[in-house]
Amino acid sequence: MRTEILDHGYIELLESWGSDEFIVETARTSTAKGFLGWGPTEKDCNLCQGSGSFMGAAPDREDPKCSACKGTGKQPGDEKLLHFLRQQRHSTPFEFAGAAFEIQAPLAVFREWHRHRTQSYAEVSARYVPLPDVHYLPTTDRIIEGSKPTGNRQASSVGGVQCALEDALAWLAELADLYEHSERVYQSGLRRGVPKELARLSMTVGRYSKMRATTDLHNWLHFLGLRTAPGAMYEIRAYAHELQKMLAARFPRTMALYEELGR
Ligand SMILES: Cc1cc2nc3c(=O)[nH]c(=O)nc-3n(C[C@H](O)[C@H](O)[C@H](O)COP(=O)(O)OP(=O)(O)OC[C@H]3O[C@@H](n4cnc5c(N)ncnc54)[C@H](O)[C@@H]3O)c2cc1C
Repeated sequence: MRTEILDHGYIELLESWGSDEFIVETARTSTAKGFLGWGPTEKDCNLCQGSGSFMGAAPDREDPKCSACKGTGKQPGDEKLLHFLRQQRHSTPFEFAGAAFEIQAPLAVFREWHRHRTQSYAEVSARYVPLPDVHYLPTTDRIIEGSKPTGNRQASSVGGVQCALEDALAWLAELADLYEHSERVYQSGLRRGVPKELARLSMTVGRYSKMRATTDLHNWLHFLGLRTAPGAMYEIRAYAHELQKMLAARFPRTMALYEELGR
């Protein structure tokens, strides 16, 4: 499962472990009951004793349904426990599931990503092999939209100056020149026998690199909460949104609760 992002980047789900069911089963370790099932069970609801109605409800109550089984009369399924776990921010059961991704992104994105200390990383080393010879050139829309005032100081332009299309194009041409020059200096260093770990000093944070990142579901949700927020940098948000979709494919119930209840 791989999705292309930005001009040369991608994110790929390599591996995931655990499941919504396993999270519930883990939470039940204390009572040794395990995972019981989704949806209404065959047993009568503990609260309404199978009647489906709210016990002792006033006759004019708008919704006289039992609040536990929502009127089915049956003991609700394990989605109730999963909901409770997320709502109460129980973290441990969600640490029993996780996922590993491969990401190709500009170094500027990795600088932000690596601040997340609860993930483990393995990155291609420019001490051994050259980094992918590709650089990030934002679109003119990204530049122009980004220069509009949004109230987010980190994302805005200096002094609130709005970037015109011709300025965006001119700057992109300069940036492309810089990338080319940076690559020339890098290659010149390699040709002249400069150690690879020093030759890379010419690289800019627009250069793409590649890494693997892994952590448990609890910490991915924390990461998503910070990096899909509107205040996060557009580029890392693009990766975070795709990561969220990939997690939703593997942990649909947990991720639906994440959307409902927040991180
Ligand atoms: C919109 C945005 C703007 C930002 N701007 C800046 C900026 O201008 N400058 C800057 O330097 N950074 C900035 N950051 C980075 C930010 O300060 C955090 O470093 C980053 O988001 C990682 O968050 P975290 O520490 O919660 O995550 P993680 O490192 O993944 O940690 C997850 C949680 O584990 C716990 N934890 C992990 N390690 C420790 C520890 N050693 N001690 C105690 N608890 C720990 C904490 O509860 C933490 O919240 C920004 C982040 C965002 C999202």
